[in-house]
Amino acid sequence: MKISLVIPCYNEEATVETFYGAATTVLNEIEDLSYEMIFVNDGSRDSTRQKLKELAEKDERVKVVNFSRNFGQQAAILCGFRVCTGDCAVELDCDLQDPVEIIPKMIEKWKEGYDVVHGRRIARKGETFFKKATASYYYKKLANVSSIDLPRNTGDFKLLDRRVVDIIINLPEHNKYLRGLESWVGFKQTFVDYERNERIAGETHYTMKKMINLAKAGLISNSFYPLSFSLKFGIFGGVLSVLGYIALIFLAAFGVISGPVW
Ligand code: UDP
Ligand code: MG
Repeated sequence: MKISLVIPCYNEEATVETFYGAATTVLNEIEDLSYEMIFVNDGSRDSTRQKLKELAEKDERVKVVNFSRNFGQQAAILCGFRVCTGDCAVELDCDLQDPVEIIPKMIEKWKEGYDVVHGRRIARKGETFFKKATASYYYKKLANVSSIDLPRNTGDFKLLDRRVVDIIINLPEHNKYLRGLESWVGFKQTFVDYERNERIAGETHYTMKKMINLAKAGLISNSFYPLSFSLKFGIFGGVLSVLGYIALIFLAAFGVISGPVW
């Protein structure tokens, strides 16, 4: 039995070594388990690349993929899924906000026969009120307008069975919104609750722009709402123009305005 950790990293020089140490301790304690850690360096501009290279040189279970630029966390996770070779994969952040101590619980669920094990946050330390409020509003809205029942309070900390990984990497979508797809694929799904920690070091890389882009990807790839909204808006604009034109003709006919109306 082999498990692959998939870890997206962007400017994580302050956390990669601590993450590696903590994850190694936890994984070494699980019996009958081999593992690999796939770090996907998402175009970091600090010394993350060098630090990962050193880890890979001293531990052959560490594999590193370096992106040519910053493509974003979702692209990094997807790349990790493509290269991983485990019987299951666990995606998680590098800053230890997703506690590695939860991984054995996820594996237990997997052994019980679950194909997708979502980490579910029952507390979120170190996140601003603004982030929590906007996230809560967004996921409620998304649930209303999409056909996918996105599990509440889950993020990018999950275990996926090999067959789920294979299905996801072979889907034809270009911009994959993983959080949606991982629920959409079906199979047997369950949850493990955890308290989300504060970042151990460094700062969040989720700028407002990145958050908005992720939110847009979720909406566009899971719902007809943007299309039907555009259609209704187009029809509304068209009807308004025709009415306006008719009004102009009447105004001209009754001499309220003068000159050609076409
Ligand atoms: N990350 C990434 N590419 C990005 C932004 C973030 O690979 O463009 C990684 C980051 O290194 C971390 C994870 O995605 O391992 C979550 O990012 P972060 O901790 O900054 O987000 P937050 O937890 O604040 O939402
Ligand atoms: Mg984080």
